[in-house]
Amino acid sequence: MARIVMKFGGTSVGDVARIQNVARRVKREAQAGNEVAVVVSAMSGVTNQLVAWCTEIAPLHDAREYDTVVSTGEQVTIGLLAIALQELGVDARSWMGWQIPIHSDGVHGKARILSIDTDEMLKRLAKGQVAVVAGFQGLGPDNRVTTLGRGGSDTSAVALAAALKADRCDIYTDVDGVYTTDPRIVTKAKKLDKITYEEMLELASVGAKVLQTRSVEMAMKHRVRVQVLSSFSDEPGTLVCDEDEIVEKALVSGIAYSRDEAKITLVGVEDKPGVAARIFGPLAEAAINVDMIVQNVSHDGATTDLTFTVGKADLEKAKQVIEKAKSGFGFKALAADSNVVKVSVIGVGMRSHAGVALTMFKTLAEKGINIQVISTSEIKVSVLIAEDYTELALRALHTAYELDSA
Ligand code: ADP
Ligand code: ASP
Ligand code: MG
Repeated sequence: MARIVMKFGGTSVGDVARIQNVARRVKREAQAGNEVAVVVSAMSGVTNQLVAWCTEIAPLHDAREYDTVVSTGEQVTIGLLAIALQELGVDARSWMGWQIPIHSDGVHGKARILSIDTDEMLKRLAKGQVAVVAGFQGLGPDNRVTTLGRGGSDTSAVALAAALKADRCDIYTDVDGVYTTDPRIVTKAKKLDKITYEEMLELASVGAKVLQTRSVEMAMKHRVRVQVLSSFSDEPGTLVCDEDEIVEKALVSGIAYSRDEAKITLVGVEDKPGVAARIFGPLAEAAINVDMIVQNVSHDGATTDLTFTVGKADLEKAKQVIEKAKSGFGFKALAADSNVVKVSVIGVGMRSHAGVALTMFKTLAEKGINIQVISTSEIKVSVLIAEDYTELALRALHTAYELDSA
C-alpha cells in the first residue's frame, strides 16, 4: 500500500468522457489499496477563455479579481471528477484550495505555496476516501483566492505530495513522458526514461511546459519522486530523479523553446553607474520577471543600448513601468518586439565539454537564422530568434546534437 498523488492536466479532463476515464484510473489505484489524492486542472481551453475575458475588459486589471475569475475552471473539474468517482462506487470528495487550505503568498496571478494543512485530508485518506483537489489555487494572506501561475496545477500536485509525504507523484498528461524536445513539433523527439531534477528544472524554466518550473523546484527540494505519464495509455513514463540514478549521461539532454517572450530595447540609455538598478528595480517591484539581458558597449562614452526580455503577458505593464521610472535614468527610445522565441539547449554534460554553444551558433547560421540575444548558464545555452524560425531551429538543433530517434 502506498500514498500517491495523481495529477491530470487540462486535456486529460477535457470532456465528460475523459473525466470518466480519469475516474477509472483513480479507481484502479484506490482499489489496489493505495491512499489517493488527485489534483486536477481546468478542462482544456477553459483557463485561456477566462484569462481572455479579463483582458478583454481591461488589459491591465486587478490581479485579485483576475484570480477570482481564472481559479474557477478547476472548481468545475473537481466536482465533476468527484461525481464520476462516486458513480463508480468510490468514496470521494472535492477540495478547493481554500478549503484545505493551501496557503500561498499574496502575489496574485503567480503566487507561491507556503504551506498546506493536511490533517483533515490525512484522516479521510486513511478511511479510504479519495481527495479530489483543485490545482492552481491557493489562499493568500489577504484571505483571498490566489492562483499559482499558468501550468500551476503541477506545482499543486508536487506540493501536496510533499506535504502528505506521498510515496509518488504521478503527473498524467497528453504525452507519455518527457522527450528530448516537444514531440508535437519535432516528430523525431525521443522519450527519456529518466531525467535529473536539475535538467528538468532547466528544461521547464526555458519553456518545456510539460512540468511547471516551480513544481520541479519543489520536487527537487523535497525529493518527491515525480513521474510523467500519459493519461491515455499505459506506456511507462519518465522518472524525474537524482543524477546518480542515471547511468548514461548525454551531452545535451533536451532542447526547449518559449514563445512567451517579448524583447524590449532601450535606445540611448545613459551609461553610468546605478542605471541598471533604476531600470530593473521598478520592474522587480511590479513582479515582472526579466530574463535575458544584454547591454552593448557605449560608442560615445555617454549612452548605450540595453536589451532585455520579459514574459509576453507582462510587456504592456513593463512598458508602463519603464515610462514611469524614466525620469530616473532617461533614454531616447523604447522598441518592443513580441515576435521572438527563446530556444535553449540543456545538458549536464556541458559542465565538462566545450563546444556545445558553438554547435548551436553554427547550426542556426547554416539555416540563415539570426541570433538576437544569447544567455548561458552552467548547463544551458539560450538564444533569442525570430518566432517564425521556431520549428526550423528546433529540428535543425535536434539533428545537430544527434538526438533524433531512429
Ligand atoms: P497538461 O495540460 O497535462 O498540464 P501541458 O500542455 O501543460 O499539459 O504539457 C504537456 C505538453 O508539453 C505536451 O503536449 C507537449 O506539447 C509539451 N512539451 C513541451 N516540451 C516537452 C518535452 N520536452 N517533453 C514532453 N512534452 C513537452
Ligand atoms: N488551469 C491552469 C492553466 O491552464 C493550471 C494548469 O492547467 O496547470 O494554467
Ligand atoms: Mg501543464
